This record gives sequence, structure tokens and C-alpha cells, in this order.
Amino acid sequence: MSNAECALLTTQGFIMTIITIDGPSGGGKSTVSRILAQQLGYTYLDTGAMYRAVGWQAQADNVDLTNEEEVKTMLATIQLEMTPGDDDAKVIVNGQDVSSAIRSAEMGMVASRVSALPQVRQKLTELQRQIGAKGRIVAEGRDMGTVVFSNAPHKFFLDASAHERAKRRTLQLQEKGEKADEREILAQIEQRDHADASRDIAPLKAASDAITIDSSQISAENVVKFIVDQLAKK
Ligand code: C5P
Repeated sequence: MSNAECALLTTQGFIMTIITIDGPSGGGKSTVSRILAQQLGYTYLDTGAMYRAVGWQAQADNVDLTNEEEVKTMLATIQLEMTPGDDDAKVIVNGQDVSSAIRSAEMGMVASRVSALPQVRQKLTELQRQIGAKGRIVAEGRDMGTVVFSNAPHKFFLDASAHERAKRRTLQLQEKGEKADEREILAQIEQRDHADASRDIAPLKAASDAITIDSSQISAENVVKFIVDQLAKK
């Protein structure tokens, strides 16, 4: 058992099972969720990767997203395997390893499109709840605290200004040796935020009982520290 989990045990008398972390893209959710899960010895559930994988399969199968039957057929047979790793999760869809392919900005936009479809949300919500039923999960996404795990005892909403998120993303890509145009990235972020927040089902928003953290000026490590303090306090 990790020190952080011990601290929680002694202050609470029981082990918290599900911690939700929602927020817009590029706000540092993944880094924070990964570190937090490591510290607590929990599993990190990256639900964005699941929407990306479905988007990837839809694109590979040339599925017409406006055709409900086509979407239904794809979802009826899709096999999604997620193996958490030290870095990004390993994601296998219908036997194919798409772990790297789903991480592009383009797949982020495709994921955003498929994520607005009721059938897709229903399928992935079910899968996420199955994984969550095992407990000891840090669940990251857009609707973890509002819909999928609305009874979770610990909810956080990680926000940062769109400009700050675009700056960070640009630096990340440049550090990887990739070309990145900050203005273009900002435009993509704003477009995805708008689509995610304005859709009818499970829109991006903070749960009424979530603690919102503005990470614009705080490092991921300090956000994790803040979260662990909040968990211990409750
Ligand atoms: O978090 P990430 O950027 O990987 O998510 C990709 C897209 O998947 C988001 O822009 C959003 O449209 C969708 N998503 C969602 N609900 C979640 C996680 C992701 O709608 N729980």
C-alpha cells in the first residue's frame, strides 16, 4: 500500500474507491490522473482513449456517423482492450494496437464527433462502469463525475485557460520534435471545448459537488498534492 493510501486509510477508516477527474482537453488531467493513480496504487482509467479508439475504428471502417444503423453495427462487434501502463494506456481495438495512432490532434477531433452520439456514449458508459466496479480507480474524462460515476465520493474538475493549455500542448509537441503552431492548436482546443460543452448528452461540465482546480499556474505535482490533501481532509 502506498504512503498516500495509508494516509487516506488512517484519516478515513476505509479506502476510497473512485476518484473522478474531469475537464477540458489539455488541462493536465492525464498527467495528474496518472501520478495520482500511481501514488495511491489505483488504476488509471483514461476514458478519452476509449472515445479515440471508437473514433479510430469508425474511420477505419468508413462508418457514416450520421447513419445510426452503421454506427450500431460497428458498436455491436467492437472489441476494446485497455491495459494501463506507466505512460499512456495500451489500447487494442479489434485486435489492432492503436495506442499511438489515437493520440493525434486529428483523432481528438474524431473522438469528439463520435462522443456526441448517444449509442457510443451508452456503450462506453457501460464499459467504464464495468471497469469502475472493480474499484480503486482514478477515472479521467468529461462526464466521470456528472454521469458515469455520479455517486463517486471524490470529484475534481481540472481547468486552465485555453491560452495556457495551447501553450503547454505546443511545448509538449515541440519537445517531442514535432511541428506545432500555437495559434492552430488554440483554435483546435477552442473548437473541441465548444463541441464537448455544447452537446446534448453528457456535456463537459463540472459536477455540482466537484472541486474545481485552475491549473493555469500550478504544476501537475502540486495539483496532485492538493488533491491528496483534499482526499485526506474529507
Ligand atoms: O481526453 P481526450 O482528449 O483524449 O478525449 C478525446 C475526446 O473524447 C474529447 O474531446 C471528448 O469529446 C471525448 N470524451 C468524452 N467523454 C469522456 C472522455 C472523452 O466525450 N469521458
